[in-house]
Amino acid sequence: MRLGHRYGGRMALSHDVTLPREQEATFPDRCVACGTEGPEDLYTVRQRPLSFLPFLSPLFSVFTSKVEASAPACRDCREECVRQVRYRSLLSFVLLAGVATVVIVWHEQLLPTTRGTRKLAFLGYALIGVGPTILLDVFAPRAFDITARKDTVDYEFRSESYAEEFADNNGAAVE
Ligand SMILES: [Zn+2]
Repeated sequence: MRLGHRYGGRMALSHDVTLPREQEATFPDRCVACGTEGPEDLYTVRQRPLSFLPFLSPLFSVFTSKVEASAPACRDCREECVRQVRYRSLLSFVLLAGVATVVIVWHEQLLPTTRGTRKLAFLGYALIGVGPTILLDVFAPRAFDITARKDTVDYEFRSESYAEEFADNNGAAVE
């Protein structure tokens, strides 16, 4: 297992396979979430340029060419995955909006007056705002996600065996 690289580091506990961007990925005929053979549906994910701010990605997708991938999934699993993404987007929005509101309203009480410590305090509040969402993504990885780079796409799977089968299908290796 490798500690995935969505956040620039190698943190997420996902199993990643990197393919060239122009390569059409071939998925195993199994549900990407539960592994059931021959699932009836597809779970589609799109590139999220700022994965810790998913609710902002519609704004940014205007400026980036969209990359998407569809993995086989049972209908129930697909719905569960979609719901999870929505909950996490909502959570990150509520957290950030909440922290921002608290800091704006009570800044006189919350922010130190000297410049250096003020910066530190801002950093602290930003961490409170995005930290929980990042931790969730790292320690409870999504069943399937992608991270598009300039020339490559990382396919990130929660299941190690699924990632291995995917890598075999596409002449690549699990990182
Ligand atoms: Zn399933």
